[in-house]
Amino acid sequence: MAEKNAVVVGAGFGGLTAASLLARQGFRVTVLEKNEMPGGRARVWEKDGFIFDMGPSWYLMPEVFESFFALFGRNLKDYYELVKLDPFYRVFFSPQEVVDINSDAAHNKEVFAGFEEKGGERLSSYLDMARYKYDTAMKEFMYVHYHSLKQFMNRRMVTEGLKLDLLSPLDAHVKKYFQDRRARQILEYAMVFLGNSPYNAPALYSLMSHVDFNLGVWYPWGGMGQVVRALEKLALEMGVKFHFNTPAAGIILEGNRVVGVSTPQGDFPADAVLVNADYPHAETELLPRHKQSYPRAYWQKKVIAPSMLLAYLGVGKRIDRLAHHNLYFTEVWGNHFRQIFDQPAWPEEPCYYVGCSSRTDSTVAPRGCENIFLLIPLAAGLPDDPEIREKAFTAAMDHFEELVGESIRDSLRVKRLYSLEDFSRDYNAYRGTALGLAHTLKQTAVYRPAHKSRKLQNLYYTGQYNHPGVGVPMVIISSRVVTDLMGKDLA
Ligand SMILES: Cc1cc2nc3c(=O)[nH]c(=O)nc-3n(C[C@H](O)[C@H](O)[C@H](O)COP(=O)(O)OP(=O)(O)OC[C@H]3O[C@@H](n4cnc5c(N)ncnc54)[C@H](O)[C@@H]3O)c2cc1C
Repeated sequence: MAEKNAVVVGAGFGGLTAASLLARQGFRVTVLEKNEMPGGRARVWEKDGFIFDMGPSWYLMPEVFESFFALFGRNLKDYYELVKLDPFYRVFFSPQEVVDINSDAAHNKEVFAGFEEKGGERLSSYLDMARYKYDTAMKEFMYVHYHSLKQFMNRRMVTEGLKLDLLSPLDAHVKKYFQDRRARQILEYAMVFLGNSPYNAPALYSLMSHVDFNLGVWYPWGGMGQVVRALEKLALEMGVKFHFNTPAAGIILEGNRVVGVSTPQGDFPADAVLVNADYPHAETELLPRHKQSYPRAYWQKKVIAPSMLLAYLGVGKRIDRLAHHNLYFTEVWGNHFRQIFDQPAWPEEPCYYVGCSSRTDSTVAPRGCENIFLLIPLAAGLPDDPEIREKAFTAAMDHFEELVGESIRDSLRVKRLYSLEDFSRDYNAYRGTALGLAHTLKQTAVYRPAHKSRKLQNLYYTGQYNHPGVGVPMVIISSRVVTDLMGKDLA
């Protein structure tokens, strides 16, 4: 192929991975990123010796990362070091009731046996089913470019789809195995990370329990930021050019073709454009109305995944009750989900996640200190101002300090709150969403926004809005799918 120019808009995981893949195909690749560094939602924030991964911190599905590096004849170990966490995560139900999930299957069975009679055996059969779903989904459905309903609804999809429980909700599926609330919460919490509630996520996503229980929770030494750096390094090795602080202001068109991207720094000519920036922003703000495949009205009807209140806290002491990953589940978590999806409001009694990578890694906080990351899922589109955030933060910290049995705010050295307005300003996120589009049945596979524009011949998309969806490994797969398509289209 004669060398063609591909312009990638956005240097999140989607843009970074797609850029290298396109360079491997022979494109001359330029990445335009509005922020000053790569990573997108996975950027890093450093202050006074504390290092925070601003977004993702659970390194899941390691095979997806390994096989990505292998495509370039590279070994991931030459780019960053991975350690398996022990425990994978800690769950707090109350200050008194705390359980760990780890790599020892017998231990996890014991935990579930403590929840209800035969809980151990039921966990084994639940995980067998989750493994089957994961293997089938990876083999048959993940790395596929869905372009039409007819192609999606083939006989194999229908038979396998039924076996994979595409049609029933996850919560109902889990209830077939477990009556105990705690068991169900551990098996369903991951839905929040897919931008969903267990009440409207297809039971297919029980495969996520295979991901955390069987494949394990890993940690890239130095934090997720090291993975971003590794991908940037790989892209540079492949000849990709990066322009930071360079926001795309418009996609330049000639008839039904895109011919470039305009920015305040000038125009970048392109034979193809691949957008990694938030899909609704790109469609409704970078294209004229008649060239939008998904205009504003489309997004208004979609189930938008949650936003979040995040707190980055540098704490001047050790907090020994914490593990690296910690989850707190309220007794009645349905209320929190209702306030995220059905009756949007800042939650009164939230479930939350607390990350503390300094429990594992002494390089991410000063000696004797912890880098705490508090995450409370919120409805997208909520009002957001410093007063509301502070109130929610105070309530959450009152609760969290009771949970761990000691004051944290007394020893704060660094504090930064981050929420809806920041997501909108920093990433052009629609309604301040952290995670894009929720994974409801009607927003799965072919029902997610397409990888290729329906109106413009050479405009493509990658990232968490596309199939297969939300989460770093999914976004890497999305880039593989779309760049394969581009290779075929543009050869
Ligand atoms: C707080 C949080 C915690 C999470 N935890 C996990 C986790 O533990 N594990 C996991 O696997 N996933 C997790 N996720 C999800 C995961 O981080 C995302 O799904 C993934 O990083 C999204 O990548 P992306 O490339 O699609 O989008 P983004 O990371 O948003 O990248 C898009 C890029 O486009 C840029 N951009 C936007 N507009 C323009 C423009 N006009 N011009 C140029 N550039 C533009 C943005 O600045 C950004 O850099 C988490 C997400 C959040 C927010």
